[in-house]
Amino acid sequence: MADRVLVTGGAGYIGAHACKALARAGFEPVAFDNLSTGWAEAVRFGPLAQGDLTDRASIDAALAEWNPVAVMHFAALSLVGESMKDPGKYWRTNVNGSLNLIEATVAAGIRNFVFSSTCATYGDQDGVVLNEATPQYPINAYGGSKLAIEGILRDFGAAFGLNHVIFRYFNVAGADPEGEVGEQHVPETHLIPIMLEAIEGKRPALTVFGDDYPTRDGTCVRDYVHVSDLVDAHVLGLKWLLDGKGTRAFNLGTGNGFTVREVIDASRAVTNAEVPLVRGARRAGDAVALVSGSERAISELGWEPKRSSLPQMIGDAWRWSKGGAIFGEAGARTCRARGEC
Ligand code: UDP
Repeated sequence: MADRVLVTGGAGYIGAHACKALARAGFEPVAFDNLSTGWAEAVRFGPLAQGDLTDRASIDAALAEWNPVAVMHFAALSLVGESMKDPGKYWRTNVNGSLNLIEATVAAGIRNFVFSSTCATYGDQDGVVLNEATPQYPINAYGGSKLAIEGILRDFGAAFGLNHVIFRYFNVAGADPEGEVGEQHVPETHLIPIMLEAIEGKRPALTVFGDDYPTRDGTCVRDYVHVSDLVDAHVLGLKWLLDGKGTRAFNLGTGNGFTVREVIDASRAVTNAEVPLVRGARRAGDAVALVSGSERAISELGWEPKRSSLPQMIGDAWRWSKGGAIFGEAGARTCRARGEC
């Protein structure tokens, strides 16, 4: 029987891609999700264990039923802008939920834990390339809550031998090249899907959040990484733990920073269309530049990003967006039920 992995947030964007990569690598992914922002239709590569991280009993029940060898923890609130408007929601949901999960994992005797952290834990560091040794000073509640969870893992590692791999993501983009899963948020807040929706006429325009930053064209710099490459690293991180190599943190980015305007320019070549644009104010909580030093993942894990060029990421996202998204009808129903569309 295949080794099982409990994947929290397995119905969400990155979690669903991770389930596919795990299944392909010979594991059985069990998606643990409350379906608050994820889609049941995205759970296609293993069973769904519906539950909520704020409900410890539902975590205990899933761990007892499925008996996984490891936990991969994606489920979280993850929007920088929202985290600045409602910080309490971020601290409560992300930190309390993760603490429940980590305690339940240890209580179930599982000692392998893969955690989705973020470059937002580094904060704004004046354009320096950020590597794993860079001190972390988050400037928004999202990054703050993720850094707190890194601290919980450190302490549970020391006290109970919980081995953990922490991945600090830069900006995740693109979609499964085979079109089985992709990005679908309600409401959407991320640059690339919004830009594509504006091109398709699904929204009037893309608002550029600030064009007076100290960068080459005044817009923020980010390091974009393809979701398929990102989840490949997770499979390598899981194997790292199962091989007994122990606790380690890895950045996941490409080391190439692009401004918002450069992303927009790259989309023209892919879609052959203009992006309708509106100039907007800076978004609270945004760092000027976030660029990864990812040598460690490449040299230690053997990670090889294959699809993380801008045209490839935008192209895969474009095919997914134009395809209407597989969660279309169900997604639309959920969206209407929530009063969001
Ligand atoms: N951005 C923008 N307009 C949008 C959404 C995002 O100008 O409608 C900018 C945002 O300010 C940031 C970059 O695009 O500089 C990436 O933002 P996103 O929300 O995709 O990811 P984040 O960096 O917050 O994780």
